[in-house]
Amino acid sequence: MCEGLEARASPYAQEGSDAHTLCEYKVLKALGRDADDPTENLDYFDQEMADCSDDYTSFSMEQVAEAGTHCPDPLILVEERLDFSRWVPEAFGTGDLVIVADDVLTIVDFKYGVGVVVEAEDNPQMRCYALGAWDAYGCLYDIKTVRMCIFQPRRDNISISEISIDDLLAWADGELAPKARQAFNGEGDLVAGDHCIFCAAKAVCRARAEKNLELAEYELEEADKLEPSEIAAILPRIDELVSWASDVKDFALSQAIAGVKYPGFKVVEGRSVRKYTDEDAVAKAVQDAGYDPYDRKVMGITALTKLLGKKRFEELLSDLVCKPHGRPVLAPESDKRPEYNSIDEAFSDN
Ligand code: SF4
Repeated sequence: MCEGLEARASPYAQEGSDAHTLCEYKVLKALGRDADDPTENLDYFDQEMADCSDDYTSFSMEQVAEAGTHCPDPLILVEERLDFSRWVPEAFGTGDLVIVADDVLTIVDFKYGVGVVVEAEDNPQMRCYALGAWDAYGCLYDIKTVRMCIFQPRRDNISISEISIDDLLAWADGELAPKARQAFNGEGDLVAGDHCIFCAAKAVCRARAEKNLELAEYELEEADKLEPSEIAAILPRIDELVSWASDVKDFALSQAIAGVKYPGFKVVEGRSVRKYTDEDAVAKAVQDAGYDPYDRKVMGITALTKLLGKKRFEELLSDLVCKPHGRPVLAPESDKRPEYNSIDEAFSDN
């Protein structure tokens, strides 16, 4: 489905890529290896990214220490290309941290996204990475178990799952390889789900459209007002519905600009706001008239952290920074955050 379709880079993907670059640097330094500090060249660096990459580095070093307890010379690989094309044609991935050791092969994956909580249990991506690592280094170590760790700090999620090498290979040969072959040949079934948001075909895929349009056929009771149970049935579908609708809109706009005609629609100019053509000239004109054109404000936390450096920022300002409560959001029961209690929050604010 994705063949010939361009996967468009999103700002979130770039932010994730920057976070990975920072994590790679910090882990390499923690391992005592040479690495250049990439912070200056990151587009999205901020305090949260600095904290998340510190936490990831601590977690990674704990895994390295753990491997050292059962293997004297573990192989520690950072941002390692893992080729699992033996099972999935032409496929490879990049392991954020791979620890190859006797008994246990550990795969650590850093996830900077907030949209979807990612679990390690039954996670095919993690299993594929493990296969790649086992295929390359399994002959050097006596690996019996694979330990897959997802570290997703912005969702307070550390998810760890283990699988024996025998079960992993049975899954790879019995399930993964046949399905991958089908997909590679353009065969098999399209199964729409949460994973579609990462797919280059997400705006044009019929299976995804049909799944989302099923909601329109949802059988509601006759009463004029929706019951809580009916809203509860709709809620789990809404995020995907909104995401799909926005994917279709974005795709249609880019196609329409390129000349595709959608009956009943045309491309028009959106709302625009006035702006200065020359800021220096504006400032001078206002000053000459006897006014101060500048609006002095304290820089934001991200900008000040960049200016002062994290350590100096902490020394000078740690007592003057607080983290207010986030505004309440509806989340599924499975969400790991504690339930919001409006009364507790009101009192703790006081
Ligand atoms: S079902 Fe989802 S993942 Fe599969 S091709 Fe369609 S959009 Fe992509």
